[in-house]
Amino acid sequence: METLLNPRRHARAYPDARSLEVMHQTIDFFERKGKRRLKEDYHARVWYADFLEFVRRERIFATMCTPAGYGAADARWDTWRICEFAEILGFYGLQYWYTWQVSVLGLGPIWMSRNETVKQRAARALEAGGIFAFGLSERAHGADIYSTDMVVTPVDEGVYRASGRKYYIGNGNQAAIVSTFGKLAGSGDYVFFAADPTHPRYECVQNVCASQNFVSEFALDEYPLTEDDILHKGRAAWDAALNTVNIGKYNLGWASIGICTHALYEAVAHAHNRHLYGMRVTDFPHVQRMFVDAYARLVAMKLFALRACDYMRSASPDDRRYLLYNPMVKMKVTTEGERVINLLWDVIAAKGFEKSMYFEQAAVDIRALPKLEGTVHVNIALIVKFMPNFFFAPADCPEIPRRDDAADDVFLFDQGAARGLGSIRFHDYRRAFAAFDLPNVRVFAQQVDAFRDLLASAPPNEAQMKDTDFLLAGGELFALVVYAQLLLENARLYGIEPELVDQMFDFLVRDFAEFALQLHSKASSTPEQMRHCLRMIAKPIADERRTAAVWDRVLALDGAYEMNA
Ligand SMILES: Cc1cc2nc3c(=O)[nH]c(=O)nc-3n(C[C@H](O)[C@H](O)[C@H](O)COP(=O)(O)OP(=O)(O)OC[C@H]3O[C@@H](n4cnc5c(N)ncnc54)[C@H](O)[C@@H]3O)c2cc1C
Repeated sequence: METLLNPRRHARAYPDARSLEVMHQTIDFFERKGKRRLKEDYHARVWYADFLEFVRRERIFATMCTPAGYGAADARWDTWRICEFAEILGFYGLQYWYTWQVSVLGLGPIWMSRNETVKQRAARALEAGGIFAFGLSERAHGADIYSTDMVVTPVDEGVYRASGRKYYIGNGNQAAIVSTFGKLAGSGDYVFFAADPTHPRYECVQNVCASQNFVSEFALDEYPLTEDDILHKGRAAWDAALNTVNIGKYNLGWASIGICTHALYEAVAHAHNRHLYGMRVTDFPHVQRMFVDAYARLVAMKLFALRACDYMRSASPDDRRYLLYNPMVKMKVTTEGERVINLLWDVIAAKGFEKSMYFEQAAVDIRALPKLEGTVHVNIALIVKFMPNFFFAPADCPEIPRRDDAADDVFLFDQGAARGLGSIRFHDYRRAFAAFDLPNVRVFAQQVDAFRDLLASAPPNEAQMKDTDFLLAGGELFALVVYAQLLLENARLYGIEPELVDQMFDFLVRDFAEFALQLHSKASSTPEQMRHCLRMIAKPIADERRTAAVWDRVLALDGAYEMNA
């Protein structure tokens, strides 16, 4: 496997010519634009009309974001190609990824709806090069979407008026359709409806952020709606909000992967060709250590996110394991992205500030991904619900193959009720660990056994269960187990070399020990819990030959890619 994206040697396999064409056209658009213009537009906060014109001309979003049956023959919702598309956009700039991402979110409640009128409208808009918006957030309420103040008042049979404001809504300036979340006056039922930014009763108030993105505040004042504009009502509206975020949050991991990959090329090229004290910067042992760690972390991010794709594409009402893996892509892959950039920045130091570098933008943008579409906390609070079944009630679930086929991922728009998480069952994580006879995989498996022992014999007490700070510390340990498991599943599917797998487990052992220490240090941890935590603290097994082999992979990146000027 070509582990990291290299636009110069794009080699990913697709079952059809059009998917490959979309990737090549997108790479080509950015390489023709060139780094100088890319950075000038970034600094001048230019609205990316050139990108959107390219998207229109080449029907990029129409191909990628229209489910089969609603668009041209090349259109389907195919997560295998979507993930690389997201990676490419992140690779060239989070702003380009963002206008696409919020279009994905805006389309979620539409494709999930039974409202064929709006669906046909959306399909036509996509063909015409339209973008979309997802109007969920409000200024005062953050993650608390129960408290929405967007009120939809019935005024006659099938006729409504919507009033209220939304905040942080990407593309709210130019979207063809803004999928907007609110409450029905009287019943208090939730509702999703399609709003049109060109309507006189839709006021685009401001861009909340100073960036190329238009992250709008908009206001609806007695905005007229008919039944034709209503996408969902009641429970279905709530489910559409959550199920849309389930789809969208997956893409954040790929933005991180793309950002880190481009930043890594720049960092290696700079460090390896800079001479200090008569040697290369890459001759410093600590620099080598940081690069090896960054590289191993980045490959792990990619393997995990790719494996999560398989589960997402294979999901069904009977197999909802993706509901654990998707939030993990969102919270774990993106926080790992921050660590990768931190490591690289410590190496390239001042160079990472220069206006001509992609890195300068990467260092800022990488911070956004753990925070948006639900913070890390919200996502850990979500995944801890899966812990009891994950550890103590493994089930015989179907083995999922690599899903790089040309399927239309219809289930994503028919996910059903967004509840019942605690009853979802998982396959036994220990099988993945047992399949690898590597020193650090063994150390890690022992750490996990100690964590499982803690959960079995000294589980959080009632007060600790109510203490989100305590739960989050435990959640981080759980997240690492899931991360390591899927990473191993994919290391096997992709035939990753043993030395690279063991190097990834070098950092996983260290991270597990770090989180165990955090849990140990919580004010409310009991002596028995502390004893288990100390058993989780372990040191990775060093192997110079292994690390040297991974270091060679890093050095091979010097000169492998540089964006066109
Ligand atoms: C650039 C940008 C673009 C955006 N684009 C869109 C968009 O297009 N559409 C849209 O609808 N929204 C959008 N958003 C909103 C974004 O999704 C929210 O900002 C995000 O979900 C978090 O909300 P908040 O920042 O208001 O944090 P808050 O919800 O106010 O959270 C405050 C703190 O409480 C914690 N917290 C909250 N709830 C919980 C919980 N249940 N468990 C544990 N901890 C919790 C959080 O982790 C955080 O530390 C955008 C935001 C930005 C900045």
